[in-house]
Amino acid sequence: MTGSAYSRPVSSGDPYVPGRGDVAFEVTHYDLDLDYKMSSNRLSGKALLEVVALAPLAKLHLDLAGLRVSKVTVDGDAVKWAHRGERLNVTLRHRLATDERVRVAIAYAGSPAPVRSPWGEVGWEELDDGVLVASQPSGAPTWFPCNDHPRSKATYRIAIECDSPYEVVATGTLTDKRVRGSRTRRVFEQRRPMATYLAAVHAGQYEQVLLADGPVPQRVVLPAAVKAPVLADLERQPRMMSFFAEVFGRYPFDDYTVVVTADELEIPLEAQGMATFGPNWLRGRGAEERLVAHELAHQWFGNSLTISTWSDIWLNEGFACYAEWLWSEASGAVSADALAEGHRSQLAALPQTLVLADPGPRLMFDDRVYKRGALALHALRRQLGDDTFFALVRAWVATYEHGSVSTAGFVDLVVAHDDRPAVHELLDAWLWRTPLPLLPAATHA
Ligand SMILES: [Zn+2]
Repeated sequence: MTGSAYSRPVSSGDPYVPGRGDVAFEVTHYDLDLDYKMSSNRLSGKALLEVVALAPLAKLHLDLAGLRVSKVTVDGDAVKWAHRGERLNVTLRHRLATDERVRVAIAYAGSPAPVRSPWGEVGWEELDDGVLVASQPSGAPTWFPCNDHPRSKATYRIAIECDSPYEVVATGTLTDKRVRGSRTRRVFEQRRPMATYLAAVHAGQYEQVLLADGPVPQRVVLPAAVKAPVLADLERQPRMMSFFAEVFGRYPFDDYTVVVTADELEIPLEAQGMATFGPNWLRGRGAEERLVAHELAHQWFGNSLTISTWSDIWLNEGFACYAEWLWSEASGAVSADALAEGHRSQLAALPQTLVLADPGPRLMFDDRVYKRGALALHALRRQLGDDTFFALVRAWVATYEHGSVSTAGFVDLVVAHDDRPAVHELLDAWLWRTPLPLLPAATHA
């Protein structure tokens, strides 16, 4: 069908984030060479994208917000491009066949800033004396040209040069560090597939502390002034890591870095192999240990197993919230059962207007998605019994490790473990109906 690639609607990405991403192609690798000047908030970059067509293609619709493109080449040849709003349209020299691969190089620069979204400002953000990236769900194009769709997962190499006094970390393992006069260039390699929203850079007047050197290396990057309270609050994280590996399966990445910014942050946020907290969440009293568990659990649920569409957000947040309850129980605090009963009562007092497996973009990050998601899992645990439930969780993680997941895939796996009508009814009631179901009676302790 000649011309179909031209007539594709621009919003061929995710319905919750219209105008972003394109499911007609995937980027399999991003090679980003970045230069950042902190005092002037000036970023210049060269991005090399390895692209594979998933359908016949004459143009590539990429996402890039607020930065200016100076050159685009495809396999080394200069091509036509147009950058309008947050879309960078690249005209290919010849039409790509399905599965055909090209390398797209883009030179760009500007002063990065977050973009407004229905969920607040997201993306690259200047701090008082540093930088953070918090992209979920649509902020990645504020610092690199990308196919901003959660299903498009790629490996990354991020090289970044910045003023030497600043500690800089990015998602991936540090593989090279060179000081050149007053500037330092670091290279981070992410060899596991990563969704665009999970790529991050942090820079600030930070120091690094090793929290555990094995079996999963864990470090903290933080301002020296908050070291004592932060380390007190993260003291049990290595034990949490071992516990989650036991319950969910092996930790999916090479290492784990907790970044604590100098500025206070509204919420903690996960990135790949990384989590970001404001110092307001780690004041040394252990009050928010559930959030330490929540962000760590996202490494399995969200980062290794990445949702295919944003409507499946409960698979990220329900599991991460349930992991908080599992850790509470394992650490000798309140049992998951008691937490479930309590949260069900609280949830029952709120309006029941939300379909868990398709809450709509406005309610995507509503706390009811988190709590109802965790409750759905606890309901399933009671229905299946602990042995089957935890075998199911481990099978879920192992089957889709480093891949993409969907509610349909989850339901298929559940019924492969237990096909009784009561299980189908339970899934239907929790995932697709609005009334809040009762928790089933426990099968056994
Ligand atoms: Zn979360």
